[in-house]
Amino acid sequence: MTKQFSIKTEREQFYDITNQVQTTVAEANVSEGICTIYCPHTTAGITINENADPDVVKDVLLGLDKAFPDRSDFRHMEGNSSAHLKSSCIGASETVIIHKGKLILGRWQGIYFCEFDGPRHREYYVHIQE
Ligand code: ZN
Repeated sequence: MTKQFSIKTEREQFYDITNQVQTTVAEANVSEGICTIYCPHTTAGITINENADPDVVKDVLLGLDKAFPDRSDFRHMEGNSSAHLKSSCIGASETVIIHKGKLILGRWQGIYFCEFDGPRHREYYVHIQE
């Protein structure tokens, strides 16, 4: 099964979508399988990282800003090349194993939709395969 979600983003930010993904897995009633979380955008992404301390996500964003600053010699006319670089670095999807009907996530792991060029209306997909 594949389920589409919409998200309205405010700014450059990570949105915790772990609960939505877990609920989708529960609805699918799949015991053993694979869950893919996919984002069809070129200035956003999907990642898994710590959800216990919210400062971790803020530090990841700071680190990405340092790694991919805006540059005057970028050629892309839209002016958001650093967001495209961050999107490629983070990647468009994550895959999580489903075991005994649940996602195998570490104690501190959360699944994030990563906005690098908000505010925008975005979509992401959760695909579950037995
Ligand atoms: Zn662009």
